[in-house]
Amino acid sequence: MPVWLWLVLALIVLYWVLPEFALHYLHIGVVARPRVVEDCLCLTFDDGPGEASAEVLDALRDHGAKATFFVVGGQAAARPELVRRAAAEGHEIASHGARHRSAWLLTPWGTFAQLIRGRRSIEAVSGAAVRFMRPPWGHMNAAMPLAAAGASQRLALWSYDPGDWRAAQDPQELARRIVDHAAPGQIYLLHDAGGDGRRHTARALEIALPKLQELGYAAVTLSELLAKEEPIGFGRQVLQAIWGVWELGFERLNRIQRIGDVRSLLRIGRVTYRGLPVTLKSGREVKPGDRVGELHFRNPQMAALGALRAMARVERTMRDLALLIEADPRYRDLEVFFGISVVFRGPRRWGFEIQDMQFTRWRRFVAGSYLRWVMSVYHPQGLERLQHRREMLEPKGIFITREEILKRFGPGAAKAARVSRPDEEG
Ligand SMILES: [Zn+2]
Repeated sequence: MPVWLWLVLALIVLYWVLPEFALHYLHIGVVARPRVVEDCLCLTFDDGPGEASAEVLDALRDHGAKATFFVVGGQAAARPELVRRAAAEGHEIASHGARHRSAWLLTPWGTFAQLIRGRRSIEAVSGAAVRFMRPPWGHMNAAMPLAAAGASQRLALWSYDPGDWRAAQDPQELARRIVDHAAPGQIYLLHDAGGDGRRHTARALEIALPKLQELGYAAVTLSELLAKEEPIGFGRQVLQAIWGVWELGFERLNRIQRIGDVRSLLRIGRVTYRGLPVTLKSGREVKPGDRVGELHFRNPQMAALGALRAMARVERTMRDLALLIEADPRYRDLEVFFGISVVFRGPRRWGFEIQDMQFTRWRRFVAGSYLRWVMSVYHPQGLERLQHRREMLEPKGIFITREEILKRFGPGAAKAARVSRPDEEG
């Protein structure tokens, strides 16, 4: 192969292929999946302002949601009133370039021009600083990160694309996809311009926004979302990823299932009880060999959330548990549910009874070390707190009957009955 051909190939790899892979797919140095534990998510709208902007803004306003608009510089200049309205209603205005051009077709200076000119025309209209840039289609080249740094913008992509850009969308179906993918820190890619069909996006919002609200999510701007991001080092990221895979494998193997949505802090499995015989307050006995439901609390995630938010989240999950044990034949015949926990204030409030499990010294050591290790991966401050209070590392059995779960958390339960007075911790 002639030398010039090698040079051309090297240029293609260095200018397009590597940056596309590193930035668009690996998200290195790019905002795409912020680690947020609060129930916040971010709706973003590209390609506007355009045909559907006014309807999208109406839907957002009617449901108290804030969003981020990645507007195209040329269109912002053509329809300034829509950009001003969005900014005035508390939405964030970001850049989608001066024109809607793929970075694959741009020279390095063309890339710089897109970012600098885009920012200038957008800021001239909105009157607020543009902090984020989303390259059209997410396409990247080697000049893009340099141009973004030069124009004081962060490159921002998305974590979920419900595909509202496809023609002939059913708003119901689009809304269902949006709601099904709700998760803390999720960044949705949506559009308010570019084609005749975009009005389905506004209609889908009318359906999805109240449901997201019902699920406890707040739709915030990208800046607000990132302000809630938990900074985390690379080493801990790797450890958490490994831990997540192990946990998933363990759950699959033991047929443990999640209760409720992605935020759930509780898992359930059907097991044979192997602990000491215990007699609960209601008089019910639990003997070795009984079939019981085992509840697994996700202690590290609870610690990372902080006590108050974790308690609120578990309480919601207990309501999902009440529905599950009535609906799922796997659990319908079980009368007692138990778990092993190292914190007791929460479980007591939810109607659990605390019982000594009389673990062997070895089992206690393993449980303690496990907890300490997992905490160090997820929440070093939490670990320090725990080490000041070593008694909290003492694992105990927590038990609750089906009757108690249904009484407190079942569909008919009065809200007042669910939250009993806060007990002493310990
Ligand atoms: Zn676009």
